[in-house]
Amino acid sequence: MDALRLMTRRNVVRGIAAAAASFTFPCPSRAQSAARIVVIGGGFGGAACARALRRIDAKLQVALIEPNKVFTACPFSNEVIAGLREIEAQQFGYDRISAEGITVIAQAAVKIDPQKRSVGLADGTSLAYDRLVLAPGIDLRFDALPGYDEATAAKMPHAWKAGEQTILLRRQLEVMEDGGLVALAVPASPSRCPPAPYERASLIAHYLKAKKPRSKIIILDAKDAIPQQRLFEKAWKELYPGMIERISLSQGGRVVSVDASTNTLVTDFGNYDAKVANVIPPQKAGRIADIAGAVDNTGWCPIDPVTFASRLVPDIHVIGDACIGGAIPKSASAANAEAKACAGAVASLISGASPAMPKLDGTCYNTVAPGYAFSLSGSYQPKDDIFAEIEGSGFTSPVDASRETRLRESDIAQSWYHTITAETFG
Ligand code: FAD
Repeated sequence: MDALRLMTRRNVVRGIAAAAASFTFPCPSRAQSAARIVVIGGGFGGAACARALRRIDAKLQVALIEPNKVFTACPFSNEVIAGLREIEAQQFGYDRISAEGITVIAQAAVKIDPQKRSVGLADGTSLAYDRLVLAPGIDLRFDALPGYDEATAAKMPHAWKAGEQTILLRRQLEVMEDGGLVALAVPASPSRCPPAPYERASLIAHYLKAKKPRSKIIILDAKDAIPQQRLFEKAWKELYPGMIERISLSQGGRVVSVDASTNTLVTDFGNYDAKVANVIPPQKAGRIADIAGAVDNTGWCPIDPVTFASRLVPDIHVIGDACIGGAIPKSASAANAEAKACAGAVASLISGASPAMPKLDGTCYNTVAPGYAFSLSGSYQPKDDIFAEIEGSGFTSPVDASRETRLRESDIAQSWYHTITAETFG
């Protein structure tokens, strides 16, 4: 914690006074050298941003606040659910990040005072900052789907934050009898990783086909169009004929409530009693962003796309799933690209330089069976104050590609995971 100011309740008044003074009279030497950057959230966005900041300028004092000592990654967690890999392959610690001179604080941030520029931690201490980067990911909107709350999630898992929930869904599939109905409730956009529910349905089908072939999967969807729709539908026909049925929004697929006592998903057109119910509720920015005042009435954080600066609160930047990224889908790939661009912008602002115009590249891989994947990629730049896809930059795997191509994409997907996790945590 060394140079960073960690304030206890006892010296909080002194800390606030110092922060208030520097707010009124910015200190040029600190601005150019030992500026204090606090990053909240040690996931794909936050951890990558903290590292990038230190690499850009080793004099910056960077603290990373994250309550979990081990991070559990969502990408590839659908393979854990399908029994194709173990949860340990998803888990990463923070030792390498600490070794780079970043102060890793295993606490949750519970309070933010933008005027005093301080972050309150769960243990009652607080931390002063010159600039704050928020990367808290998502929270699930337990108020948005009648019948579904945190307690219900222990029976009808969402598995939309990886960890215990991922294991719970896997166990439920393992104990389900052959012939059971697995139902997935998919929310409307925006949400974390738009194609992931369909990847999940595919991999669950792979598991069921081998172990419980009389079982069926139904996707109850609050959307009409889905990413890479033709590719998913073709793969389902080819690999899992008759196993997966998707009911879109206009076909009455939106789940309007659930009843955990009977494992029932209710739509306007009918009820579905599932043996396993995977309920993915609507989402919003992680709660700490709301506490900071950085969330608007959409539930997400509006930002300036050049600097990732909050449009609502000074000296705060927001990256990853929590921010409104325009055309950029909420993904680990995007969070990583945003993290690096944001680190560059923050370092420029501190040194008084103009931030560069960011160009973010992102690729999303969907694995529908072992050795069978396809991808979607794009590049994005600020346009009309929001991120827009650069014309002609988008690429999607062809619908009629050969199995060799699908195999190659599956290998590339594995390499992508190794690279992004090594870059972020390794
Ligand atoms: P996260 O990675 O979730 O990190 C947020 C961190 O903030 C967490 O560690 C959390 O503990 C911490 N935090 C929250 N509140 C506080 C607080 N108050 N104080 C301190 N810390 C706090 N993306 C891809 O690119 N490719 C994929 O193949 C892919 N597959 C996916 C599959 C599934 C099933 C799911 C659900 C998602 C998938 N994603 C994928 C999406 C990806 O996981 C997210 O987009 C990515 O994790 C977002 O990064 P983030 O930093 O915004 O949030």
